[in-house]
Amino acid sequence: MKAIVYSEYGGPEVLKVEERPTPTPGPGQALVKVAAAGVNFIDIYQRMGWYKLNLPAIPGSEGAGIVEAIGPGPAPSPLEGATEARPGDRVAWLGGLGCYTTHALVPTDRLIRLPEGLSFEQGAAAILQGMTAHVLATRTYPLKPGDRCLVHAAAGGVGLLLCQIAKMQGATVIGTVSTAEKAALAKAAGADEVILYTQQDFLAEVKRITAGQGVQVVYDSVGKDTFDKSLDCLAPLGYMVTFGQSSGFPPLFDVQRLAGLRSLFLTRPSLFAYVAARPDYLRHAHAVLDMIAAGQLKLRIGATYPLEQAAAAHIALASRRTTGKVLLAP
Ligand code: NDP
Repeated sequence: MKAIVYSEYGGPEVLKVEERPTPTPGPGQALVKVAAAGVNFIDIYQRMGWYKLNLPAIPGSEGAGIVEAIGPGPAPSPLEGATEARPGDRVAWLGGLGCYTTHALVPTDRLIRLPEGLSFEQGAAAILQGMTAHVLATRTYPLKPGDRCLVHAAAGGVGLLLCQIAKMQGATVIGTVSTAEKAALAKAAGADEVILYTQQDFLAEVKRITAGQGVQVVYDSVGKDTFDKSLDCLAPLGYMVTFGQSSGFPPLFDVQRLAGLRSLFLTRPSLFAYVAARPDYLRHAHAVLDMIAAGQLKLRIGATYPLEQAAAAHIALASRRTTGKVLLAP
């Protein structure tokens, strides 16, 4: 098998192509021939050492492909998390690591059979960012008709999906983006208003758009550059959902800022905690895949790179040049 491996933290140059023996799945594992692997910002945080791993590591937390073999041992009962998949099945999954490869070992309880008509590319594009958007809009702060939300980086992988799901929940969506091209994409995904936060003061714009009332929730994945002003965009009892740090970590926080007349909520969600239990994992994954299969949720695959060019994919994602999903094609 071929894999992207890094043995030290650092820039994109630490990503090396390696040939390795194809592994044999152990109990509770499946060997999957990878057709598409998702590239996500978390892969960059991990590569840079912001999130610590055991090295050497193969990056990548999601993929899609064909099951080649299931490990030995009795199949656990469905209540214990039995696999839905068998050799030959087309599957997608969210895993811990190890997806930038031609052959991945995947825990069987994380395999999701792809619905008819969905390609591997769609499966790999949907799982991590789709479930994140679904969790944010339906559980972290469950949006309802009448709510106003602010979605930063609205033309990104999570952003385009979050705009669409927020609209389905009945909310008014204000998106922020860096370029006019990205603004058009966010609009097409349903954003009611789009702010070019590289040129406009997004706080002043949010105040203007909401007639000074603010939004019920900010979904902020940008972090350092947006955190402070995002708090000021919130209506009383509003939710500050800080779920990423594409521009760097937000500043250390004085909880007193949540007090006073606005009594704000602050949360730092992680998808992995929300879908740790298999019933939750299945619920969110199937919700997202079913919406895509039904044509209700549109995926944008902005770029696909050969596996060997994983470093170029990281450079593009980190430098704000991408829109929608970035994939690797092993
Ligand atoms: P995106 O496709 O959204 O790419 C990141 C975007 O962030 C860029 O395109 C850019 O949009 C914006 N951005 C703003 N400032 C910067 C900067 N200084 N450097 C780079 N990008 C910047 O990535 P993903 O969809 O993969 O992830 C989005 C965020 O969501 C990430 O922070 C990620 O960590 C987080 N996330 C968190 C999860 C969780 O469980 N908590 C799960 C999944 C994702 P623009 O050009 O419009 O400013």
